[in-house]
Amino acid sequence: MRLLIIEDEKNLAELLGSLLKKAGFAVDIANDGEKGSFMARTQAYDLIITDYVLPKLDGGSIIKEIRDDGRNVPIIMLSVRQSIIDKINILDIGADDYLSKPFSGEELLARIRALLRRPQTIKEEKLIFADLELEPKSFKVRRANKDIRLTNKEFSLLQHLLLNAGKIVSRESLLEHVWSGDVDPFSNTVETHILRLRRKIDNHQPKLIHSIIGRGYKLDTSI
Ligand code: CA
Repeated sequence: MRLLIIEDEKNLAELLGSLLKKAGFAVDIANDGEKGSFMARTQAYDLIITDYVLPKLDGGSIIKEIRDDGRNVPIIMLSVRQSIIDKINILDIGADDYLSKPFSGEELLARIRALLRRPQTIKEEKLIFADLELEPKSFKVRRANKDIRLTNKEFSLLQHLLLNAGKIVSRESLLEHVWSGDVDPFSNTVETHILRLRRKIDNHQPKLIHSIIGRGYKLDTSI
């Protein structure tokens, strides 16, 4: 899953970025409001965290632009001053939740999980395909009832394939959802990770991960 952080305090942005990466998310960072709003409206994010007081464009205007663009991605607003949060009606401007600074990493992760667990998303439920199971909450993967250990990236990659099981998932879509935007699209990162994932998942029949030449990858039992 891919998250965007819009935060002008670079130290805080980097701290949040590494916290969220450790938790298994792909993370992009924007250091001003204009750039953040542009990224939010041109890329596919699963959740956005934005500061309120930002150079060029404030958090409220960013959220308005994102919602006006028809995007219902969950948004968490951050602010140093409780008074700002008090003055604005968070729901009116279209944020889903807010945190006042300072906050703990644990609290932010809990809020993120709560938003990603909403009924309109299936992201927190157990994903099952053939004899393969993936549990986002406990970070568990099993095939034929045997536990399989995956790295964070392999886990996200498999999760994205499972959410789209039976459909072809393009390389671009994997780069977008599993990796941060800073991965060189011409590198063989995707291929390398697919290869490793296959070694762990597909070492017995039937093979589940299939390459569709020129188009991408597909989870299927019948190819
Ligand atoms: Ca700020």
